Amino acid sequence: MTRALVTGGAGFLGRRLSTRLLEEGYEVVVLDNLSSPSPLGSPAGAEFVEGTVVDPPDLPGPFDRIYHLASPASPPRYLQDPIGTLRTGAEGTRSMLELAEAHEARFLLASTSEVYGDPTEHPQREEYTGSVQVTSTRACYDEAKRYAEALTYAFRRQGRVLDTRVARIFNTYGPGMAPDDGRVVSNFVNQALAGQPLTIYGDGSQTRSFCYLDDLIDGIWQLSNSDVVDPVNLGNPEEMSMKELATTIAEEIADTGIDYLPLPESDPSRRRPDISRAQQRLGWEPQVGLAEGLPPTIAYFRSLIDG
Ligand code: UDP
Repeated sequence: MTRALVTGGAGFLGRRLSTRLLEEGYEVVVLDNLSSPSPLGSPAGAEFVEGTVVDPPDLPGPFDRIYHLASPASPPRYLQDPIGTLRTGAEGTRSMLELAEAHEARFLLASTSEVYGDPTEHPQREEYTGSVQVTSTRACYDEAKRYAEALTYAFRRQGRVLDTRVARIFNTYGPGMAPDDGRVVSNFVNQALAGQPLTIYGDGSQTRSFCYLDDLIDGIWQLSNSDVVDPVNLGNPEEMSMKELATTIAEEIADTGIDYLPLPESDPSRRRPDISRAQQRLGWEPQVGLAEGLPPTIAYFRSLIDG
């Protein structure tokens, strides 16, 4: 039996990843401090341990694999605690790499498209070195993840954790998101369901590319089974402006109008993954477009409201 540790396993992505690992026949231990749990709860069938990655409790190993996802991830969440976010990316990743070393486990780091900052290259290839303003508010997350990647490669180079993978995760949505995480899909859907205007930050011309949860988890699973050590972008290249997203959600639910609010500082103006590496080296690409992925996501948020 293969045994995996999923840090952040009670969160939006970690919960679904844990469920997938259980389906694949793994034993799963979840380590999570419940700072931003999925409303769906910790995954059934996994062994749950409450605690942080910065100062982890004793964990019931042995582990063959460590999937390291734990971190605040939505902008309002990481901006609430910049020091905690930096510590999670830096000290938390170090402690999980040391655990991987002790168990000789394969280590997968959940990194992010935020390592590219506000990109000057479009779409973003893995070779792009990024454009992060270190003095900006978002730097707490971006630099934490950049450091986490560098640390992962340093542990590998020094021969301490030989088996490493790095996933750069782009915007993802789907059932299991927290309605109050402050992200754009959860905000727009819940605003439309409540009959309130959708809050567009800035003029809504900024773009993102939204990947459905199941596709993303499939990408992580395939990356973790591959021998690809280089970082791999995982996301859906279907790009749209926030104005277009608002129109789509208004069409799906109800036209409740739009409130234009100030654009947060250093909000990336556009983002779209170049996924050639994942296509060529993993044989992975997303299967679910926004037209298919939005209805189950809306149904999920509706079910939370209806109880
Ligand atoms: N955004 C928006 N209205 C909202 C929430 C977010 O217009 O209610 C914008 C935000 O400024 C950004 C984009 O939507 O340009 C995606 O934001 P999100 O927080 O989902 O993720 P990010 O890609 O910024 O990490």
